[in-house]
Amino acid sequence: MDCVFCKIVNGEIPSKKIYEDDLVYAFHDINPVTPVHFLVIPKKHISGANEIDESNSHIVAHVFEVIAKLAKEFDIDKSGYRIVNNCGEDGGQTVHHMHFHVLGKKKLNWP
Ligand code: 5GP
Ligand code: ZN
Repeated sequence: MDCVFCKIVNGEIPSKKIYEDDLVYAFHDINPVTPVHFLVIPKKHISGANEIDESNSHIVAHVFEVIAKLAKEFDIDKSGYRIVNNCGEDGGQTVHHMHFHVLGKKKLNWP
């Protein structure tokens, strides 16, 4: 499949890896918008949040466990951070392999 994040998971495209296990892969965003900006993605191709169902929601739960662990490693657990999932056109999703941005070390406005 011609998916940039599948290629990152299988090593065809290099990335600055932070963490990986059987279910998820985490790496630094190539174009960081905050001093800490990494992505946590399922290894399995799931195109977006619309595709979450009872067969794969355990992976999403695991993504959030990993984020909590990595937030401590990056020393943003106490200062805070934002987890972002962009879905579809209006959400601004550009890569159609579900991913969760973790944005930290910058005070963010809303929205
Ligand atoms: P989206 O707009 O779909 O929510 O976010 C896609 C994110 O993936 C963007 O922040 C973009 O910088 C990042 N990205 C796109 N291609 C690559 C890549 O090849 N390597 C890395 N590390 N990040 C990428
Ligand atoms: Zn993919």
